[in-house]
Amino acid sequence: MARDTCDGCGRAVSVAGGMANVWTFGKNDGSAGTAMTLEFDDGTDHLLCYPCLAALPDEPSVADVDRLESVDGETSRLREP
Ligand SMILES: [Zn+2]
Repeated sequence: MARDTCDGCGRAVSVAGGMANVWTFGKNDGSAGTAMTLEFDDGTDHLLCYPCLAALPDEPSVADVDRLESVDGETSRLREP
């Protein structure tokens, strides 16, 4: 399956421009992707859905990613520590 999960909230996502889109290339099936990979200062990268990206602060850290949780299908938030 060409599916992945968000490293923050765990919801299923698809990634634009990734391997998953090879098979649908050229078709306008709306597969613009629902996530992107964010690279952090410590060299790690995390796949995050757009709601999680919106919930993160301007300069997110890996600790912030750990605190992400989904609220509903379209919203994420940072869990209070
Ligand atoms: Zn997420």
